[in-house]
Amino acid sequence: MYGKIKDHLRKELEGIKEAGLFKEERIITSPQGAEITLVDGKEVLNFCANNYLGLSNHPRLVKAAKETLDSHGFGMSSVRFICGTQDIHRTLEKKIAAFFGLDDTILYAACFDANGGVFEPILTAEDAIISDSLNHASIIDGVRLCKAQRFRYENSNMEDLEAKLKEASQSARFKIIVTDGVFSMDGNVAPVDKMVELGKKYDAMVLVDECHSAGVVGKTGRGVTELFDIRGEVDIITGTLGKAFGGGIGGFTTGRQEIIDILRQRSRPYLFSNSLIPAAVGAGIEMFDMMSETTELQDKLHNNTGYFIDKMMDAGFDIKPTSSAICAIMLYDAKLSQVMAEKLLDEGIYVIGFYYPVVPKGQARIRVQLSAAHAREHLDKAVNAFIKVGKELEVIK
Ligand SMILES: *Cc1c(COP(=O)(O)O)cnc(C)c1O
Repeated sequence: MYGKIKDHLRKELEGIKEAGLFKEERIITSPQGAEITLVDGKEVLNFCANNYLGLSNHPRLVKAAKETLDSHGFGMSSVRFICGTQDIHRTLEKKIAAFFGLDDTILYAACFDANGGVFEPILTAEDAIISDSLNHASIIDGVRLCKAQRFRYENSNMEDLEAKLKEASQSARFKIIVTDGVFSMDGNVAPVDKMVELGKKYDAMVLVDECHSAGVVGKTGRGVTELFDIRGEVDIITGTLGKAFGGGIGGFTTGRQEIIDILRQRSRPYLFSNSLIPAAVGAGIEMFDMMSETTELQDKLHNNTGYFIDKMMDAGFDIKPTSSAICAIMLYDAKLSQVMAEKLLDEGIYVIGFYYPVVPKGQARIRVQLSAAHAREHLDKAVNAFIKVGKELEVIK
């Protein structure tokens, strides 16, 4: 009987609206890309997708997906261990492991599932998870599903991490340090080289979630372990096919052989959820092949990011230091971040303003995400719009 709860939910929704936190979805009628069309026919430049390498609508991935639909069908109607594993699933898993220089990979429907299913199979109440305070929601949920003791350290603060490792060492059998590779709101890279050192010192494994870093950081886009020259030294990497790697769907955990083997036996989002659709797998294989042929897209992304940030700093904007393709333009005021994003949209630039509780109080900002799909003229148009609106709103002089 849908009775009392209906009023309750309506009140909750009202509350969300009154707090100004109600999330409206803007409707796009074109494929994802640098230039997109909104439902009102307006064409805008997109600076808020995770389409870092511009692959979301890349002809090679579209073609590969279509060909795989023809060769391997639409769906698997099965979990992997019953009859949901095709040759291409194993091929993709091996390609991902090779890309990151690790032993083996297990695919999931999404990285949310990869993170949800990575801790509980390998750790128990005798063990400890030491997790960054800004880690992604899926890591937080994954940790909650596991009985291990929990320790939280301040974002990328290695002194605090060391203190927590010392504390955990008093009682824990096994320990794991867990971090996002790139944090999505500031664009800062976790100091994973230092974490690996601390891992050695305190006998702890290291897990890095490379959702915003894989394909983006490191000269050839192989993520934080390439950036810090520590390939193969991180024990577990989780990641997504939904951001730089094509923007479709799919998640993965890649790492030490025994860990992947145990996950295949015990990880609940893997055991009890459908196999990844063949078209996504086929496009994924094509994508990793592209990555090993050339670094053209990574080079373009790195050039675009450098160019945009230089221009914005020259214009006087307050930009958080970043080593990724995420650029936070600090405004500090929540209202201002919304007004500015709205005015930028009028200028044909689609960006999002973030404020509390997505970022700390008084830390409102506009987040710009650069892409290899952006041409120089797109970047210039964005910078000019920022300057125009920034002056109007007295954000810059
Ligand atoms: C986007 C993201 C995820 C979730 O990935 P999906 O494949 O979309 O489920 C997990 N972790 C981090 C850090 C992310 O940014």
